Amino acid sequence: MIHTDVLVVGSGPAGSAAALMLSTYGIANMLVTKHRWLADTPRAHFTNQRTMEILRDLDVEDEARALATPQELLGDTVFCTSLAGEELGRIQTWGTHPLRRADHALAGPSSCCDLPQNLLEPILLGNAASRGSHVRFDTEYLALEQDADGVTATVQDRLSRTRYPIRAKYLIGADGGRSQVADDIGLPMTGRMGVAGSMNIVFDADLSRHVAHRPSLLYWVLQPGSDIGGIGMGLIRMVRPWHQWMIVWGFDIDQPPPVLDDAAATAIVRRLVGDADLPVKIRSTSLWSVNDMYATRNTVGRVFCMGDAVHRHPPSNGLGSNTSIQDAYNLSWKLAAVLKGFADPRLLDTYDAERSPIARQIVMRANQSIGEFGPIFEALGLLDTTDVERMQANMAARRNNTPDAATQRQKLRDAIAFKSYEFDAHGVEMNQRYRSAAIVGDGTAEPAWQRDQELYYHPTTWPGARLPHAWLTRGGRRVSTLDVAGKGRFAMLTGIGGEAWMDAVREVSEALGVPVEGFVIGPGQVLEDAYAEWARVREIDEAGCILVRPDAHVAYRAMGAENAVERLRDAMLRVLGRDAG
Ligand SMILES: Cc1cc2nc3c(=O)[nH]c(=O)nc-3n(C[C@H](O)[C@H](O)[C@H](O)COP(=O)(O)OP(=O)(O)OC[C@H]3O[C@@H](n4cnc5c(N)ncnc54)[C@H](O)[C@@H]3O)c2cc1C
Repeated sequence: MIHTDVLVVGSGPAGSAAALMLSTYGIANMLVTKHRWLADTPRAHFTNQRTMEILRDLDVEDEARALATPQELLGDTVFCTSLAGEELGRIQTWGTHPLRRADHALAGPSSCCDLPQNLLEPILLGNAASRGSHVRFDTEYLALEQDADGVTATVQDRLSRTRYPIRAKYLIGADGGRSQVADDIGLPMTGRMGVAGSMNIVFDADLSRHVAHRPSLLYWVLQPGSDIGGIGMGLIRMVRPWHQWMIVWGFDIDQPPPVLDDAAATAIVRRLVGDADLPVKIRSTSLWSVNDMYATRNTVGRVFCMGDAVHRHPPSNGLGSNTSIQDAYNLSWKLAAVLKGFADPRLLDTYDAERSPIARQIVMRANQSIGEFGPIFEALGLLDTTDVERMQANMAARRNNTPDAATQRQKLRDAIAFKSYEFDAHGVEMNQRYRSAAIVGDGTAEPAWQRDQELYYHPTTWPGARLPHAWLTRGGRRVSTLDVAGKGRFAMLTGIGGEAWMDAVREVSEALGVPVEGFVIGPGQVLEDAYAEWARVREIDEAGCILVRPDAHVAYRAMGAENAVERLRDAMLRVLGRDAG
C-alpha cells in the first residue's frame, strides 16, 4: 500500500496549485493525473491580480510573469465585424483605463496578466514536484472509500492497466468539470450542464497589422447570419501576441456536433479575420459545452473538491482557473494546520463555508455576462429580425445623421460600457470576504460598498476580508503588507504602542504550537509606514492588532493592546477550531 498525507486527483490549475501549496507548507502529498502530460491547449488564460498575489506568495510570480503577456497589452477589447472590417466600438478593460490603472495599482503589489493554461500548469506542477510532491502521470482515479482515519483510493496505471490502492489522510478531488470524485462522494449540484455548444480553434497567423495598434486579449466579431440564432458572434482571443490565437465559436448543441477539420477551421478563421487569403496553421480544434452548474457543498468527510469539479461555467470574466487556484489556497493551509497538529479538524469545515458561496457567485456572474451581450445586439438592431440583410442594414443605420441614429449610437456606447461587468470586474476578483468559524468578528457591521461591488475593489481589514495592500518599507526598500503575510504562517500586525501584542504572539504561538510572526509597523521598527499607506487602510488604532491567516485573509482585529495575551489566545483558538476542545 502506498501512503501519503494528501492525495490530489487532477493536475489542472486546482490540483497543481494544491500540490504546490502543500509541498511548500511541508505536507507529504501525491498527485495522480489521467494523462501523460498537462494541458495541451491554452484553455483558461486571464490571470487576475489576486491569483498573481498568490503566485507571489508561493515564490513563482517571476516565473509566471516571464511567460505571460503583460497587463498593458490586454486592454482594448474590440467589437468589430471582422478584424479587417468595420470596428463597432472599443472598451478599455482589465484595469488599463487610466482610472482603473490607479485602482489596480492601489489594490495590490502584483498585476494581472495573460498566461495560457498550458504554460501555467508546468510552473505550478514543476515547482510542486521540485518541492516534494510525488506526481504520477497516466494514472486514473477510479474509486474511493473513506473511514474514520483516512481515504483509500483505487487508481489505475493506464499503461500497464495495473490497479492499486493509495491510502491518504485526506483526498482532494480536482478532477475537472466531469469530476468522478464529486460524483463518488455525492456532492449536491445545482444548475445545468450543456447549456450551449462551443468550439475552440487554436491557430498560428501573424495578425499584427490588424491588432498591434489596439492591443487586446479579446476581439469580438459580429457577423450576422453566420451562426445559429442569426447573430453570429465569435471571439478571436490572443494566445501569444500577435501570432498565436484561439477562436471561440458557437454551435447548436441540439444538432449533431459539427465536423471541424482543418479546412472548416481555416474557413472560420479567415471569415472572422476578414481575409480570405490569410496564411493559417491550425494547431488544434476541440468542442466543449457551456455549463451553468455549481456544488452547494464541496466536502464530504475527508474528501474535498475544488476547481471545475465544483464550479462549472463559461469562460466569461476569466474566472475558471483563477477561482480554482484560490480554492486551493483556501484549503491547503488548513490541511497543513490540521496535519501538523495545531488545528482541530473542524477547521476543515470552513473550506465549505468559505468557498461554496464563491462557487455560486462566480457561476452566476459568468453566466450573467453572456446575457449582457444582449444590449449590444439590441442596439445594433439584431434582435428584432432574423433577416440577415435587415440586420446588416440596422447595423449600418447608426452612421446616419438622424435623431434615431444618434439614439442608436448612444445605446451602443452604453451597451459596450456595460461590458465592464465582464472585462473589468475588479471587485469580483478582489472582494471575496469570508464568513465562517475561522473568522473572528469584532462586532462591527460589514462595511458598506462605497462603489459598485462587482466593478471596484474595496479595501478593509474587516475580519474575513483580504488584507489590504499597502506599501511599507523594510531597510528602505518597498515591501507590501501582502509580502509580510502569507508564507504558510499567521502574521500579526501592530504599531507603536502595540508591543504587548508582540509578547502575546510569542506566548500564544509557543503555548498553542502555532507559527505566527509578529510585526510592529512604525518609525524605528523593521517595517516602516514611510508612505503613510498603512495608516490609511488599517482601520484600527496604532496599538491595535490585525491577525492575518496564511491565505492573507484577516482572521481577527482588535483596538488597543489591553489583555493582548488573552485576546490573541482566544481568537487563535477560535480560528483553529480549538475553542471548545
Ligand atoms: C477544452 C477546454 C477548453 C477550455 N477553454 C477555456 C477558455 O477558453 N477559457 C477559460 O477561461 N476556461 C477554459 N476552460 C476551462 C478551464 O480550463 C477550467 O476552468 C480550469 O482548467 C479548471 O481547473 P481545474 O483544475 O479545476 O480542472 P481541469 O483543468 O479540467 O483539470 C482536471 C484535471 O483532472 C484530471 N482528471 C480528470 N479525471 C481524472 C481521473 N479520473 N483520474 C485522474 N485524473 C483525472 C485531468 O486530466 C486534469 O488534469 C476550458 C476547459 C477545457 C477542458
